[in-house]
Amino acid sequence: ENFHDVDMGEIIMGNITLSRYTRPTPVQKHAIPIIKAKRDLMACAQTGSGKTAAFLLPVLSQIYTDGPGEALQASKASGQQYPISLVLAPTRELALQIYDEARKFAYRSRVRPCVVYGGADIGQQIRDLERGCHLLVATPGRLVDMMERGKVGLEYCNYLVLDEADRMLDMGFEPQIRRIVDQDTMPLKGVRQTMMFSATFPKEIQILARDFLEEYIFLAV
Ligand code: AMP
Repeated sequence: ENFHDVDMGEIIMGNITLSRYTRPTPVQKHAIPIIKAKRDLMACAQTGSGKTAAFLLPVLSQIYTDGPGEALQASKASGQQYPISLVLAPTRELALQIYDEARKFAYRSRVRPCVVYGGADIGQQIRDLERGCHLLVATPGRLVDMMERGKVGLEYCNYLVLDEADRMLDMGFEPQIRRIVDQDTMPLKGVRQTMMFSATFPKEIQILARDFLEEYIFLAV
């Protein structure tokens, strides 16, 4: 078993090799083909399972294949950034880890990842966003702030990932998450592709999955 079972394009395959990932972990082995097949996904996976690469690799490969399209034109015209993919994470630490992994896998691909999180200088994050942003990793509160300031629009967000969804709910982010996902600018479920990752699958997560996912595949590893 290796990463070549699913075609993710030469550049990303090269970056997997550079990262010295030789064989996919179980969550990667199962989730990557599901995501590449454009299905919504609810995956129960722990930290340390390799879940980050499980969603980043197929999403980056899809962004790369799709190209920036209309999102780029819209960003140029408005000064607002329109990421093609959004990854929501509960904490600054996790957001930074996802961002670091995204940078590694996006190397030389012209796909530009950005990260925004609370408790840090927003001006610098805005300046970084303005250099272009195809994949945005964000904590929910800071993203709402960025949207209210007119710095980020989600009209072209075709790939939405909720990472550690149970922790985001435990931390009280449900109102912000619902604001981000349910506002009228985000493409509707079934139009966008949505992937949820969670260590546990309690009632509240089942409800979120019902509300945000369309005919999803359930994966437990
Ligand atoms: P995660 O569960 O995504 O936080 O990943 C846990 C750790 O495993 C991270 O340090 C990853 O860089 C590493 N990792 C993920 N997938 C692989 C793989 N297929 N081969 C080797 N290391 C990996």
